[in-house]
Amino acid sequence: MVLSDLGRRINSAVNDLTRSSTLDEKAFEEMIKEICNALISADVNIKLVSTLRNSIKKTVNFKELPPAANKKRLIQKAVFDELVRLVDPHAEPFKPKKGKSNVIMFVGLQGAGKTTSCTKLARWYQARGFKACLVCADTFRAGAFDQLKQNATKAKIPYYGSLTQTDPVVVAREGVEQFRKERFEIIIVDTSGRHRQEQDLFDEMVQIQAAVKPDQTIMVLDATIGQQAESQAQAFKDAADFGAIIITKTDGAAAGGGAISAVAATHTPIVFIGTGEHMLDMERFAPQSFVSKLLG
Ligand code: GDP
Repeated sequence: MVLSDLGRRINSAVNDLTRSSTLDEKAFEEMIKEICNALISADVNIKLVSTLRNSIKKTVNFKELPPAANKKRLIQKAVFDELVRLVDPHAEPFKPKKGKSNVIMFVGLQGAGKTTSCTKLARWYQARGFKACLVCADTFRAGAFDQLKQNATKAKIPYYGSLTQTDPVVVAREGVEQFRKERFEIIIVDTSGRHRQEQDLFDEMVQIQAAVKPDQTIMVLDATIGQQAESQAQAFKDAADFGAIIITKTDGAAAGGGAISAVAATHTPIVFIGTGEHMLDMERFAPQSFVSKLLG
């Protein structure tokens, strides 16, 4: 089920209820049930769905509603607020400072969209007046440096990488040192992924983190991986303690509920969402407007 379907289902559950002539408790319970079913089919963790169900019930408190209350508005607002709560961990993401070298390190599994998102983010900051650059510390995947080089060249972003150095820690350290000296303000370090979560990858991440001392570590999560997203994010969090998430491929046929659950499980804010393969296909993530858009 794609995200827009989820929104449509939730919306129609609320509308059916608020339009029905008998807006009684039974109909209210039916609406909540339909919303919860929609969230579960979108891969949102069952525990989260159950918390949301209880919170909506508690907030609306149907039995105690005075007869004159605007039930429709109350119910719509409760559903909206709870959905916002689901995607908002109430943690402030890092804000880079002008005139200083801000190092941002990317982590995530191979194919999640790290290299693509690195360039998108560098371009995003560049367009906002930051001096941005890219470091390719992915020495694991053949072709990774070429891919970053091509993207960076297209976006006119300076880059650093090596075709001969096989130690990603050395490349990361040298690249960041060079760009710090050159007073770049946003230094984005792309790291390698693996097909699976494995110890080698986590060890490498920890070593690169120690070498470049990032101001922020961002985990890139593929929206299409469904329920695995939560455990994957948790494992990365335990190893690399990232402070922000970028969810990619939200334009695809994915519900994204797994990714939403990952946010809740790791109490980490989503900062951007990837909406396509091109350089400009990235949007800033804001819980309120995300839910507004979701509900159309
Ligand atoms: P990495 O291995 O994590 O560095 O992943 P890549 O950046 O190479 O991306 C893997 C694939 O996903 C590429 O084909 C990208 O074009 C694609 N991709 C990345 N982000 C998005 C997105 O937001 N939407 C879509 N549709 N494709 C994306």
